[in-house]
Amino acid sequence: MSQVLAARFHEPLKPLKLEYVDLPSIADNDVLIEVKAAGICHSDLHILDGTFPPSKTPITLGHELSGVVAGKGENVRNVEVGDRVGADYLLSCGTCDSCLAGKDNLCDNFRCMAINSDGAWAERIVVPMRHVYPLPHNVGFPEGAVIGCAVMTAYHSLKQAEVSAGETVLVYGLGGVGIHLIQWAKIFGATDIIGVDIEDGKLELADALGATVTLNPTHRDPVEQVRELTNGGVDVGFEVVGHAATVKKTLACVRKGGRASLVGMTFENLTLSVVNDIMIPEVKIMSPQDHLKREIPHVLKFIEKGDFDLSRAVSHKMPLKEVNEGVRMLTNRINQPVRIVLEPS
Ligand code: NAD
Ligand code: ZN
Repeated sequence: MSQVLAARFHEPLKPLKLEYVDLPSIADNDVLIEVKAAGICHSDLHILDGTFPPSKTPITLGHELSGVVAGKGENVRNVEVGDRVGADYLLSCGTCDSCLAGKDNLCDNFRCMAINSDGAWAERIVVPMRHVYPLPHNVGFPEGAVIGCAVMTAYHSLKQAEVSAGETVLVYGLGGVGIHLIQWAKIFGATDIIGVDIEDGKLELADALGATVTLNPTHRDPVEQVRELTNGGVDVGFEVVGHAATVKKTLACVRKGGRASLVGMTFENLTLSVVNDIMIPEVKIMSPQDHLKREIPHVLKFIEKGDFDLSRAVSHKMPLKEVNEGVRMLTNRINQPVRIVLEPS
């Protein structure tokens, strides 16, 4: 059994430990991936602060990755050694009723990389073949890594909200996930795309990627501005920060009969008036969970054809050994991180 260097979570609010761990043996249906890049997602911060505990500790974190196939089991036909690949962190079973209905994000036997099994902040990882996909030829490893969570979550959120041509869209929070919603909204024909973030660098990026208006809430209440600009509110509001306060702001920006999609993860309790905030305006509330496996080839096609720009999706790259520094930068929003990517090998 070989060993790999990995960034391990032992307990909340403590630095990750860099340790050598045993790599599981490669079963007939497994692929061994040499991890070239692995993103730091805000969801990892929820694990690290103790609000979203994994099912086992210690555990290797990291659920967004790209790499090169370094070995494979006997039955593996979809990839060859040397292929550039990404991997889906949703380790669904493929056989339960939810999976068979195409809702593998709701798999009855759901297992998730870095929650139930060791993740990608490691030199190598073993992944069942059905969760491995080829990386588009036109993306590098760092950009390829963010496809797995950041880009897929944004895509699924947009599809779930059924954004259509001519609609007005608000993206509240323009970080690693939210920034991609700007592009998806444009691709799917939204005419007015409003981006909100407290960091001006994120607003500039959103402008470049297709936002029609960008607002910084530290200067003026965005609810008032959004309602003015849209004559009563947006058709669809996406909350991609993960705070109770910004969920309320997002809801207040949605027009009567519109949709609110709560993408951000918050464990805070939210005080809402069902009648005033939801019933009278008849707002439809959604909360997208990750993505669907069948959406991955669609997203890869957009990227391969050059219709989805990943050139500015990664703001920082660092070696695996600097993982705690990367976590500190994202937590404290140092140097306006869009996505920080670790490069383990
Ligand atoms: P991120 O830290 O990269 O981005 C958050 C953004 O919010 C940053 O740009 C930050 O400047 C901005 N922000 C912070 N406070 C703000 C405020 N008060 N007003 C406006 N903007 C503010 O995080 P991320 O990786 O993009 O993840 C965003 C959220 O989505 C997290 O809660 C994460 O856990 C969640 N998430 C959910 C899913 C899902 O399946 N639903 C998947 C991935 C991530
Ligand atoms: Zn993520």
